[in-house]
Amino acid sequence: MKPPDTHPIRAFLDERHVGFAADIGAWAERGLGARSEPPDDAACRREARELLAELGTAGWFEPIRARDWRSCCLAREALAAVSPLADAVFALQALGTLPLLLAEEPAMRERWSLDALRGRAMAAFAMTEAEAGSDVGAIATTAVKDGANYRLNGTKTFISNAGIADFYTVFASTDPSAGGKGLSCFVVPAESPGLRFAGAQVLAAPHPLGTIVFEDCRVPASHRLGAEGRGMALGLQTLDLLRATVGAAACGMAARALEEAIAHAGARRQFGKPLAEFQLVQQKLARMAIDLTAARLLVFRAAWEADRGAARVTLEAAMAKAHATEAAQRIVDDAVQVLGGNGVLAAHPVDRLYRSVRALRIYEGTTEIQHLVIAGKLLEARAR
Ligand SMILES: Cc1cc2nc3c(=O)[nH]c(=O)nc-3n(C[C@H](O)[C@H](O)[C@H](O)COP(=O)(O)OP(=O)(O)OC[C@H]3O[C@@H](n4cnc5c(N)ncnc54)[C@H](O)[C@@H]3O)c2cc1C
Repeated sequence: MKPPDTHPIRAFLDERHVGFAADIGAWAERGLGARSEPPDDAACRREARELLAELGTAGWFEPIRARDWRSCCLAREALAAVSPLADAVFALQALGTLPLLLAEEPAMRERWSLDALRGRAMAAFAMTEAEAGSDVGAIATTAVKDGANYRLNGTKTFISNAGIADFYTVFASTDPSAGGKGLSCFVVPAESPGLRFAGAQVLAAPHPLGTIVFEDCRVPASHRLGAEGRGMALGLQTLDLLRATVGAAACGMAARALEEAIAHAGARRQFGKPLAEFQLVQQKLARMAIDLTAARLLVFRAAWEADRGAARVTLEAAMAKAHATEAAQRIVDDAVQVLGGNGVLAAHPVDRLYRSVRALRIYEGTTEIQHLVIAGKLLEARAR
C-alpha cells in the first residue's frame, strides 16, 4: 500500500500536511502492514493496548493535542488503509480525550490527556445506552451530587475500549427533568469503585466493544467537565469536530480497496486477457475512483473549515461523514466483486475491509441522522 496520495486534496493542505501524510503512511505500512488479524476478541483487546503504546511512542497522537483536524484525518486515512484496529485506537483516543481539551479543566486535562496522548492511558467515550442511541437526550444514567462527589448509576453499551480503557468520558444526567439539557460530562477512572465491565460485544471485525455498569459509582465533583448541564453541548461539539475523521477512515479503507481491485484486475486473466481490459470492470474502477475523490474532497473541506477556526462545522462534517462512509461501503463492495472468490476469503485484505467498513455508517451518528442534520441546516437557512 502506497502512502495516501495527497495530490487530489492539496487545495486543503499545507506543506507540513503533505510530509505528515507520507511519514505516517510509511510508518503504518512498515509497522502494521504485515500483521494478520487478531484471531479472537481477547487477542484483539491485547493488540489494541499494544497499538496504543506504539502509536503514542511514535508521536502520532500529537495532532489530537494540537487540534489539527487535517492531520487527524490524514492519520486516520493512513491507519485505516492498513489496520482498521489501529485506526479505532486512534479514533477513541481522540473521542475520549477531546472533551477534556475542550472543557479546559486544567486538573483533569493534566491528569489524563497528557498520558492519553502519549499512549500511556487508554481513553473511552461512554454516551450510548440501550434506550439512547441516536436519541442522546434519552440518556438515563444519573449522576447525583453527594457531598464532594457524584454517585453514578446506569448502564452504557456499545462502548469502544470497554474493559480495557484506563478512563471513561461519561455522559450522565444531573437533572433528569431537563432531558438533553440536564446532561453533564465526567471523567471516570476505570478503577473507580462501583464501575464494572459487564462483558464484550463481539463484531465481525476486530474492535474492542462492550458494556459497562455504574452501581453507586463515586466520582469526585472535580471530575465533572464544565458546568452541570453542559454535557450535551460538549458531546456534540466533540462529535462535530471528529466526524470528518470518520469520513477520513472510510476514505483510507476505500483507497486500499481500490488499490487491491486495480492490482487484481491487472493480474488476473479470464477469457484470454486481463480483467482490466473488460469495460464493465473499467467502469467499476472509474466509479470507485470518482466516489473516493468526492469523499476525500468533502472530508478535507470539513477539516480545513475546522482548522481555520469556523465557529461550527456541523453541516460540512455531516456531509463528509455521510458521503464518505456510504461511498466507502460501495467501493469496498465493488472491490470484493472485482476480486471474485478471493475477495471473500477471510485472510484477504478486502474481506477485512468489507467487515470493518460497515460500522462507520452507524457510529458517531448514523447516515440517517447526518441527513436529518443536513436537511435541518438547509431548511434553517431558507427560513432566515
Ligand atoms: C463499532 C461501534 C462502536 C461504537 N462505539 C461507541 C463508543 O465508543 N461510545 C458510544 O457512546 N457509542 C458507541 N457506539 C454506539 C453508536 O454511536 C450507536 O450505535 C449509534 O449512535 C446508533 O445508535 P443505535 O445503535 O441505538 O441505533 P438507533 O438509534 O436505534 O437507530 C437504528 C436505526 O434507526 C435510524 N433512526 C434513528 N432515529 C431516526 C430518526 N429520527 N429518523 C430516521 N432514522 C432514524 C438510525 O439511523 C438507524 O438506521 C458504537 C457503535 C458501533 C457499531
